Amino acid sequence: MSSMIPPVYDTPVFRMACQQFDLVADFLDIPVNARDRLKLPKRSVSVAMPVRRDDGSTTVFMGYRVQHHLTLGPTKGGVRFHPEVTLGEVAALAMWMSWKCALTGLPYGGAKGGVTCNPRELSTGELERVTRRYTQELIPFIGPQIDIPAPDMGTNEQTMAWMMDTYSLQSGHCVPAVVTGKPVSLGGSLGRREATGRGVAYLVSRAMDTIGIPANGATAVVQGYGNVGSIAASTMARQGIKIIAVSDAVGGLYNAKGIDLAKLDEHVAKTKSVVGFDGGEAITNEQLLLTPCDILVPAALERQITVENASKIQCRILAEGANGPTTPEADAIIAQRPEIFVIPDILCNAGGVIVSYFEWVQDLQSFFWDEGEVMSKLYRILEQSFMQTVNFAKKRKVSMRFAALSLGIQRVHEAKTIRGLFP
Ligand code: GLU
Repeated sequence: MSSMIPPVYDTPVFRMACQQFDLVADFLDIPVNARDRLKLPKRSVSVAMPVRRDDGSTTVFMGYRVQHHLTLGPTKGGVRFHPEVTLGEVAALAMWMSWKCALTGLPYGGAKGGVTCNPRELSTGELERVTRRYTQELIPFIGPQIDIPAPDMGTNEQTMAWMMDTYSLQSGHCVPAVVTGKPVSLGGSLGRREATGRGVAYLVSRAMDTIGIPANGATAVVQGYGNVGSIAASTMARQGIKIIAVSDAVGGLYNAKGIDLAKLDEHVAKTKSVVGFDGGEAITNEQLLLTPCDILVPAALERQITVENASKIQCRILAEGANGPTTPEADAIIAQRPEIFVIPDILCNAGGVIVSYFEWVQDLQSFFWDEGEVMSKLYRILEQSFMQTVNFAKKRKVSMRFAALSLGIQRVHEAKTIRGLFP
């Protein structure tokens, strides 16, 4: 049974997150009067931000922050700079952060933020002014005990450093715990930059063990060669997996013999894209998704695996590095293809927020861990979450996505029930 969608959030991606929630709520028998309370974002902020451009003109950018629920602690989630950011998209991503944090046992509700802009078309100075203005507008809504932003698509360590600086100037003292994903020199955690991609590769190797594919000779295709996709690719390559295709927002690349990632990284550092690299032939995004391979890693935008291509993808493992890459309609098709093992987004890409949690803990204590400690704690949480999801899926005869969402949603539901409703 579905319930209402407030018009401000009504976008295909928010509908998709609600549709997933409604299916799970039916399955878990969550009482009807608890559903909207669990589903609808607690708070959302929308700001119009005038920013001075390099040519002296002023552009007003729209910025958003959505905090999905406040039941288990402060809220947590990334900030996205992308031309297609909407309030509805940010709300869906915040909802997924809630289920992700609950699945992995982090003491947070979900949040997400975004600015509708194209970071590729902004100078460094303009990006800094957009980031500082956005942070300034959000000062009453963020903080180490309120809501803790982090990087997402289009943002990085530098963005987090500017956010931390802007917030700290207002506070009159240094507040590193207000954001995670900072440079290590400013209180960032060792291993945070690599955490999401390494987590994806770890779970891929667990999935390979589970279904019996040896790493040597296995092939992988990666959509999106940003922070998540590139680290996932290089970590998988170190495990003996051959990366045969990659892509980014501009275009794709294929090489049956395996792409030389070290050379590709040099090319990307110079040109900001995988396109034009001479170690492979050009392919389109659609060709990339349909390339036969053992492991397909969508690590870009939402809604890439759809009714159009779900019956045609040719992989054994679908490892969702992105948030929401597969639509519920595509899920129904993949459910009829038992040869495909899905590592659902809220599990597959959870490495990022797990190490963000470690960063926050280290900042609050001003006591820093070495990389080995960070990584071993990360893999322990991922292992536990993976096994819980596999076992739930087996026992209740549901898909991996359904199992992961059920575990996350059930935990938030229990917490809300025990806390009660005031007054
Ligand atoms: N943006 C990342 C995500 O979608 C990381 C969030 C965080 O570290 O708080 O999970």
